[in-house]
Amino acid sequence: MSLTIARRVFACTALLLTTVAYAQERVPGQVPNPTKEPAVVTPGTTPGAPPSDATVLFDGKDLSQWVSQSAAGGPAPWVVADGVATVKPGSGGIQTKQAFGSCQLHIEFATPSVVEGSSQGRGNSGVFLMNNYELQILDSYQNPTYFHGQAGAIYKQHAPLVNASRKPGEWQAYDVVFHAPKFDADGKLIQRATFTVFHNGVLIQDHVIVMGVTSHDKPPYYEAHAAKMPLSLQDHHNPMRFRNIWIRELAD
Ligand code: MG
Repeated sequence: MSLTIARRVFACTALLLTTVAYAQERVPGQVPNPTKEPAVVTPGTTPGAPPSDATVLFDGKDLSQWVSQSAAGGPAPWVVADGVATVKPGSGGIQTKQAFGSCQLHIEFATPSVVEGSSQGRGNSGVFLMNNYELQILDSYQNPTYFHGQAGAIYKQHAPLVNASRKPGEWQAYDVVFHAPKFDADGKLIQRATFTVFHNGVLIQDHVIVMGVTSHDKPPYYEAHAAKMPLSLQDHHNPMRFRNIWIRELAD
């Protein structure tokens, strides 16, 4: 074979392989259409308002969906007035009557407008998914603390990607996608939990893997628990305010 013919054969082969590669590439329209029609959900009337399939946990009227953690099963002791639930410092955390696993959560909060304390002592609360995995709430507006303890941190495991905190006293929102951990019948961990979080619309946790219970004085650890657990809010002795809390259960 002469050199010229060899070059032509090589070029033709390269062209053929490229054509085959393009033919095999998946393009929109080639994916089989799912057989089940997606359910119709009516979105909230305004940004942040609950969609039609959400379970509303607090709409400003009362804390009837919640119970006390310190007086187990007793009524939630926090104060409700003017459409807002405020932590009663020292009364203990509150948790939902209903249990949840994987979920989408929307929660709005405001740190005290009168700034007192610093670091972890300033505007501290927290949202505990499944009573175990804390998404930190803190006044992190010009309030330095350890990075994986500031607002939006998965407590002591993942610092937020950015600090999207508003000023003290201003209303803020977390939008959360949480996937529950899974344990087998013997209680062995088979899948870790994950968090994705938007803080005031800004992505701050991008599908991070939870290493276990978010303890303040122990390394994270997993301990088998039910497939669904209550959602809880922390009393960290600051008069934090909450409004507009809703949740949508997700299939695993
Ligand atoms: Mg906290």
